[in-house]
Amino acid sequence: MPQLDILAIARSPYKEKFAIPRQPGLAPSVITRIELQPPYDDPAALQGLEAVSHVWLIFYFHGVGSRPDSLRVRPPRLGGNQRIGVFATRSTHRPNGLGQSLVKVMGIEGTTLKVAGADLLDGTPVLDIKPYVPYADTPANAVNQIAPEAPAQLAVTWTSEAKEQAEKASVRLKEKVVSVIEECLSQDPRPAYQAHDENREYGVLIWDLNVRWHYPTSNTIEVFQISRAE
Ligand code: SAM
Repeated sequence: MPQLDILAIARSPYKEKFAIPRQPGLAPSVITRIELQPPYDDPAALQGLEAVSHVWLIFYFHGVGSRPDSLRVRPPRLGGNQRIGVFATRSTHRPNGLGQSLVKVMGIEGTTLKVAGADLLDGTPVLDIKPYVPYADTPANAVNQIAPEAPAQLAVTWTSEAKEQAEKASVRLKEKVVSVIEECLSQDPRPAYQAHDENREYGVLIWDLNVRWHYPTSNTIEVFQISRAE
C-alpha cells in the first residue's frame, strides 16, 4: 500500500488532548482551520465545497500514534473499566491510528477550510476531506446501543474574576472564549473512573490560555482562573 500523504494540518485551539470533547459538534463554537499543505495547497481543490454544509475529516491521531496491539479498549462511555472490541468504538487507540469527524463548513479562505465543532488536537494531520452526503451518510433507523446519545452535560459556573478574564481574552483573541470553555467543560473532561473531589483542581491549555476549574459538587463545574500562558 502506498505511503499516505498529509494533505492538510488542523489548527485548533486545543493544545492538549485533555478536555477536547469526545466527538465533533459538542463544542460548536470552536473554529478550526484546515490548512492545505504542499503540494495539495491549491484553492482549486476546495472548489465546490461552498455548496456543502458539512465535511468528513479523515485524520491521524498524531498525539497517540498507531496502536497495532489495541484490539480491545476501555471506552469512557462504559465507565473506563469495561473492555470491548476497538472496532465497536471511536477510541483514539487504534491499529492504524485513524480518526474521522463530521464538521460544519464555516468558510473557505484561499487554501484554508474553516470548520466548526471539530474534536481535533492542534497540529492534527488530515489525510482526506470528503463532503457529507445526506442520502448516503444518514441511514434511516440507525442504531448504536453503546453510544445512543450525546453525553450528559454538566452545569458550568464562573467566579466573577475568571469570567472577566475570559471576556478580556475574547477581545484579544477575537474568539468565543466563554462559549468554547463552557461547551468543552460541560462535557466533563474528568476520567470516567475518577471519584468526585471538590478540592481537586483541573487545568488545560486552550489557545494560549491556562483554564483552571474545580467541581464544587459532583455535577457542577466552577471555572476560577483564566490566565495567559507564558
Ligand atoms: N471523532 C473522531 C472519531 O470518531 O474517530 C475522534 C473521536 S476521539 C474519541 C476524540 C478524542 O480524540 C478527543 O477527545 C481528543 O482527546 C482526541 N484527539 C483529537 N485529536 C487527536 C490527535 N491528533 N491525536 C491524539 N488524540 C487526539
